[in-house]
Amino acid sequence: MLGLMQQRPLLLSSLIEYAERYHGETEIVSRLLDGTIHRSTYRQVAARARRLAGALRRLGVGYGDRVATLAWNSFRHLELYFGVTGAGSVLHTVNPRLFPEQIHYIIDHAEGGYVFFDLSFIELVEELAPRLPHVRGYVALCERHEMPAVKVPNLLCYEDLLAAENEEYDWPEFDENSASTLCYTSGTTGNPKGVLYSHRSQMLHTFVAMAADVMAVSARDSIMLIVPLFHANAWGLPFAAAATGAKLVLPGMRLDSESIYTLMRDEGCTLAGGIPTIWLNLFTWIEQNRERLNLSDIKLTRVLSGGTAVPRSTIEKFQTLFGTYLLHAWGMTETSPIATMGSLLPKHAGYDLQARYDVQALQGRSIIGCEVRLVDDAGKELPRDGQTVGELQVRGPWVISGYFKGEGGQVVDQDGWFRTGDVAAITPDGYVQITDRAKDVVKSGGEWIGSIEIENLAVAHPAVHEAAVIAARHPKWQERPLLLIHPKPGAVVTKDEMLQFLSGKIVKWWMPDDVVIVDALPHTATGKLLKTKLRQDYGDWLERHSVDARAQA
Ligand code: AMP
Repeated sequence: MLGLMQQRPLLLSSLIEYAERYHGETEIVSRLLDGTIHRSTYRQVAARARRLAGALRRLGVGYGDRVATLAWNSFRHLELYFGVTGAGSVLHTVNPRLFPEQIHYIIDHAEGGYVFFDLSFIELVEELAPRLPHVRGYVALCERHEMPAVKVPNLLCYEDLLAAENEEYDWPEFDENSASTLCYTSGTTGNPKGVLYSHRSQMLHTFVAMAADVMAVSARDSIMLIVPLFHANAWGLPFAAAATGAKLVLPGMRLDSESIYTLMRDEGCTLAGGIPTIWLNLFTWIEQNRERLNLSDIKLTRVLSGGTAVPRSTIEKFQTLFGTYLLHAWGMTETSPIATMGSLLPKHAGYDLQARYDVQALQGRSIIGCEVRLVDDAGKELPRDGQTVGELQVRGPWVISGYFKGEGGQVVDQDGWFRTGDVAAITPDGYVQITDRAKDVVKSGGEWIGSIEIENLAVAHPAVHEAAVIAARHPKWQERPLLLIHPKPGAVVTKDEMLQFLSGKIVKWWMPDDVVIVDALPHTATGKLLKTKLRQDYGDWLERHSVDARAQA
């Protein structure tokens, strides 16, 4: 027997409608490209999103058509989030930090009809336009008087498009399984692949994202959105913000620590989301400017960190400097992205801070709606005992079922499990500990060494800004860990000091065979350590320097 409840489709337009009706005066604060602060409200964002939907209709952008964006976090990009999806078209957020060749591939592959771009991407757009046959027009995200002299076909002005429409637009109703947004994975090997979300998947993700044990987003929050709108739906924060009426603070392209710090302070931010590199830079900057800062100005109650493992030392700094709880999350573009979240259990209430940081350093607990499990090479399920390490798999209503246009073929098994490519352990409580990407593990004499744990310990050294551990080839053990250190500005650290610092904190056979001090470490367009490049450059380091392997215990 079927239930007798209403089949109202789960559509993203309902979020902005809600925010407009009940939180119309709540602010959306943006730092513009020229550094000035722009203030808008949910009422204005909603009204302008409706005008945008009208403009798209006039441009002939229909249901299911892709609309690409090359833009930073600002009110106009937020309007596109709601205007494009609400109209039934598909918002395709493109990561402008990728190589132009990848950006070209992605926009071409998605076959979008229009590209909306921030003025900082004029040159990029000019370079790409002659090779994008599907694109019918380019919309500059600016006022008429700011229009650039850019040589692209059919150049339009965003504010002109909106001014030509009126606010009387009713969001259409359609199937909740319709595509809503499209994000491409960064793809360090091979071409990027498209992850196509649906209204239903994003609405379910939103409901869970708001929950107390997930991000606990509420109308009382002021959310600093450092994670870009072009990276995995900005972790679902814009939708969760509209669904609760939380204030949004959008830092634009100014992601230096001083700009972030002052904006968080001035806008009373209570929650911020960003990758660990942002936090590492922030604390290095705070150390350098400690005397002139009043840290009690920062009102953050929690920060959300994901994308790569956050060092335990960062968790500790947030707690001791600001009294802020760091929520460590794990997820992927393919999981919308939230899959696990680092909230605590009742049993942790009695923990001292050091023991609590250990729990926070794990990648978070399994949440309702997104199942996780471990399997071995043969696909056999492994125990959740916190010790056994295997490949992490996920499934759930906001996990991918296949890539856009079938790229990559069948990516889930017959039971819906998606192979993440991450290597992890799961505790009986459901906390996931990522030890590596499968392709980054160090296999020493057939035994796995978790690079993430060593990196985490290394950055706790006061002179270390960032650390990377890679597998370096070794004549006897096949691979041994090599530690690369990027010191803090002005700081000096030696190999012996580093090894002494690690000694006793990890088992002897995990100790790096050598330590290389470098000026910088390479990152991907989403801020992850670019280990493929490091392996290319340093993979033969031990052979070249004939460093003796430490005895394996
Ligand atoms: P992306 O699709 O760009 O968001 O990348 C997803 C990948 O980032 C995952 O498969 C992990 O390898 C990595 N990742 C995300 N969050 C974490 C985390 N908290 N700790 C370690 N790795 C992470």
